[in-house]
Amino acid sequence: MAPLKHLLGIEPLHPTQITEILDLSERYVTLNRAVHKHNDALAGLTQINMFFENSTRTQASFELAGKRLGADVMNMAMQASSVKKGETLIDTAVTLNAMHPDLLVVRHPHSGAVDLLAQKVNCAVLNAGDGRHEHPTQALLDALTIRRAKGRLHRLTIAICGDIAHSRVARSNIMLLGKMENRVRLVGPPTLMPSGIEHFGVEVVENMEEGLKDADVVMMLRLQKERMDGGFIPSEREYYHRFGLDSAKLKHAKPDAIVMHPGPMNRGVEIDGEIADDLNRSVIQEQVEMGVAVRMAAMDLLMQTRRASMKPQGVMV
Ligand code: ASP
Repeated sequence: MAPLKHLLGIEPLHPTQITEILDLSERYVTLNRAVHKHNDALAGLTQINMFFENSTRTQASFELAGKRLGADVMNMAMQASSVKKGETLIDTAVTLNAMHPDLLVVRHPHSGAVDLLAQKVNCAVLNAGDGRHEHPTQALLDALTIRRAKGRLHRLTIAICGDIAHSRVARSNIMLLGKMENRVRLVGPPTLMPSGIEHFGVEVVENMEEGLKDADVVMMLRLQKERMDGGFIPSEREYYHRFGLDSAKLKHAKPDAIVMHPGPMNRGVEIDGEIADDLNRSVIQEQVEMGVAVRMAAMDLLMQTRRASMKPQGVMV
């Protein structure tokens, strides 16, 4: 198997690579819980975070992950950057590339933009979410959370509920959970199902009661209003009534089913606040914790590949 040069999505990953990332993440969970949270896996290397879309938790998580591994981390404020002055994404990336970064962590509103960028630079590129396409570290952190809660990552019934059509989180999770041989059920109104869903190898269900039946994992998604152009749902109240996760609907899942949400949450729209905060059912805070560990593991592996491919440098005079 080719070593990991970029992490652009879950699609190209082999199940053994997924397991390798998750196993290394476990070591970083332990490190992150210790008093001294540092190692030097990325010492001497430069990481640039380029977020062309707003982000709180993901950008913070990548920044912390890089710093804990000893990298020089720079956050580009892309909203205020030259992109606003008309520079193209690729020109910006090529300019940054000339400063010899080792890793670009990129979030962009257009599907495919991060893949394109990876072809133009000679450092490693990690996709932190591109349009509706992929969000690989989210799926990996979800997988780690599930594996730790359920003791395995195969033969589970996982209901992914809500706005599937606009969700890169759903796409990456469908691929990852499918590769690890789980039963994936998508639950939501037909208006929020992506086209071509029949090729995803999943079951599609239109009501929560049936969709949650005997589920081990209930994964709720945010209603992505910013990617909608109207007419997808009748009203938020009606949506909550039919598709919002409340205790009555959760009763249809297995008694020990866990509840997940990638954040940020719309409380009272896709999920009842009390369920989100119920530590006996909700693993939402654990997902955030696993996010840092998974990003550390992914960056560690990418940088191992990079170090192995670089020629030893001569001594500068
Ligand atoms: N934070 C996740 C993402 O960037 C999920 C969301 O925004 O709803 O895709």
